[in-house]
Amino acid sequence: MQYNQLTQQEKEVIENNGTERPFTGEYDNFYLPGTFICRKCNAPLFSSKAKFDAHCGWPAFDANFPNAVQRLTDADGTRTEIRCANCDGHLGHVFEGEEFTKTNTRHCVNSLSIKFIKEGEKLPTVIKKNQND
Ligand SMILES: [Zn+2]
Repeated sequence: MQYNQLTQQEKEVIENNGTERPFTGEYDNFYLPGTFICRKCNAPLFSSKAKFDAHCGWPAFDANFPNAVQRLTDADGTRTEIRCANCDGHLGHVFEGEEFTKTNTRHCVNSLSIKFIKEGEKLPTVIKKNQND
């Protein structure tokens, strides 16, 4: 099974650690109930319940599904990158200690890295990493 086809714009973010322009993403100002999955491999990453408005220009989540997101320190050592734990796709960055919400954590995510599935709709099958090896 192959990962989902990505557009050039999506590849730039997900595979080349790009960042979409702030306040342009389709999920920035978006608060319907449901689940946000990885655009590349369909792995569920964030619940809409964790979404909050950080006024930063990108979708913000104060929690991720257990083990769905991996953290890596940026090359310059100042920020912590977040990636999909299943396919290694770039999601954005995580910031702590800002006191926006109770978890004190802000996952700042590119809309291009995620896809919304409405509550009650069936989640697509996750495309597992090892099936691509
Ligand atoms: Zn993924």
